[in-house]
Amino acid sequence: MGERIGKHIAIYGKGGIGKSTTTSNISAALAGAGYKVVQIGCDPKSDSTNTLRGNRYLPTVLDSMRDGNAVKLDDISVTGFGGVLCIESGGPVPGVGCAGRGINAAVTLLQELKLFEEFRPDFVLYDVLGDVVCGGFAVPIRDGITDRAYVVASSDFMAIYAANNLFKAINKYAPTGGARLGGVIANGLSAGYSKSIIDDFAAKTGTRTAGYIPRSLVVSQSELYGKTVIEANPDSEHARIYRDLAKYVAENENLVIPSPIGPNDLREWARDWGDKIYNLETGVVNTREAI
Ligand code: ADP
Ligand code: MG
Repeated sequence: MGERIGKHIAIYGKGGIGKSTTTSNISAALAGAGYKVVQIGCDPKSDSTNTLRGNRYLPTVLDSMRDGNAVKLDDISVTGFGGVLCIESGGPVPGVGCAGRGINAAVTLLQELKLFEEFRPDFVLYDVLGDVVCGGFAVPIRDGITDRAYVVASSDFMAIYAANNLFKAINKYAPTGGARLGGVIANGLSAGYSKSIIDDFAAKTGTRTAGYIPRSLVVSQSELYGKTVIEANPDSEHARIYRDLAKYVAENENLVIPSPIGPNDLREWARDWGDKIYNLETGVVNTREAI
């Protein structure tokens, strides 16, 4: 792995949690601030950059490689909103092959094509599916491709569980040159306690929350227009939230090796929160707090 050109940032999280939405808005915000940005979708779903390129067709790296012809950068990239260079690694033929290995092949090809030497990006964002951080999906944080990772999580247990799994992978690979953790991006917040649950998880694992994105119709509406919030609703409160998050991610150098919670402790931690929420719902008040 040669010297990195630009800051390379991996964004992980369980499927459907809002990785692509968040990553695309960060890319759009960074582009709006004048930076050169590449976004690489590392999810077999290959929809990471949809809202940056107005849903314009973009062949995936793996599909292009399968054709057998020599692949050029133009074949597998499209310039999207604000000049963001959009790339999708793609995935194996459904039911055959390993999606993780596809990421590896895609990243290797991009290096061979000298993408970074030619484009000279300020930021490269990798949008990586991370329900299970198997060997392949860990490639961006394992092999020195990125030096920093964020995880998108809601307060749902499965999202936290997936984040905790990512922390295990970072914990394993960071000491030998793998990426460190920049923080947790809290997405899809609706209930008041969601923020507290995520903050508590972040504190317990030795990291912090990088930003809070409430659930909002503005996000859904922008997606229906095939655009990021930054492009479709630049004056909205959510655009401001994404710009603040982008600034944080761009500037944050507080990168840590997190301490994942063990399986029994995680279950216990979740049960405690279950009790607290139950008490909220049922109006049970701790007598001392009530005085
Ligand atoms: P992932 O990339 O993690 O699979 P997506 O970014 O594709 O997830 O998001 C899944 C769905 O959730 C999309 O339809 C997206 O518009 C929606 N979504 C994500 N974040 C928010 C939010 N803060 N408010 C409302 N909808 C959201
Ligand atoms: Mg996605």
